[in-house]
Amino acid sequence: MVLVPTMGALHSGHERLLEAARTLAGPRGSVLVSIFVNPLQFGPNEDLDRYPRTLDDDLALCARAGVSLVFAPSAAEMYPGGKPEVTVDPGPAGQRYEGEFRPGFFGGVLTVVLKLLLLTRPAIAVFGQKDAQQLVLVRRMVTDLNLDVVIEPVPTVRDDDGLATSSRNRYLSAADRAAALALPRALQAGQARAAQGAAAVLAAAGDGLRAEPGLAVDYVAVVDPGTFGPAGPGPALLIAAAKAGSTRLIDNMALELPVEGDGDAAHD
Ligand code: AMP
Repeated sequence: MVLVPTMGALHSGHERLLEAARTLAGPRGSVLVSIFVNPLQFGPNEDLDRYPRTLDDDLALCARAGVSLVFAPSAAEMYPGGKPEVTVDPGPAGQRYEGEFRPGFFGGVLTVVLKLLLLTRPAIAVFGQKDAQQLVLVRRMVTDLNLDVVIEPVPTVRDDDGLATSSRNRYLSAADRAAALALPRALQAGQARAAQGAAAVLAAAGDGLRAEPGLAVDYVAVVDPGTFGPAGPGPALLIAAAKAGSTRLIDNMALELPVEGDGDAAHD
């Protein structure tokens, strides 16, 4: 059985996860989707109450996608004793980037993912690369806690204008959306400088983000894709988070950094 954990308000990104899950499950296997807006991962000033909830549409989409079962528990069912006292510590990689701007976020995410894995016991669980730090931390949890599940990543789905699809995009006004497009554009500009090294990547992406007055940037960084620690030569991830209006967006793009010195040599 293949599990696809979601918070609902399903969109084309989730659909791609369901397709991947369907393929991974094979003709005789089943796909289980969980839909749960997890209160544990929302901060006191975040959008828990405002988070979109579209269960009827979600169920119809799941039916069309060949999903066998949808698990949509209430908060009281998931946390019958209220806020749990024992939770998962996401470790140092959980304090950086998203973890810095959303204190407690990854502890909440990993705790609910662990509970969902234990409740449903899938052979495989599918996660999107759009939430790259989450994917890294889920994999780390599976390794560190010896969980018996295979984690399968799915590439980021984007709208035609380049914006990564997200349940929160429905809250973007036309002006917010125009500003939001600077995020994938800036990441692409950074990605295009990969051969010149991490500093050039960061400068290009940072310039692109700062040039858009409608964006308030939380962070932009080049990280190791496996650990979210410092990036070395080879595969790296350019990550960024910013707010357009009151809607927070995150995105990332993969790149290949040259071995030390190659970047400088390009200018010589
Ligand atoms: P969410 O419902 O936002 O918690 O997301 C549930 C799963 O869908 C997570 O594994 C996300 O990484 C993944 N996901 C969300 N948006 C996208 C997207 N645009 N492309 C690929 N995966 C996505």
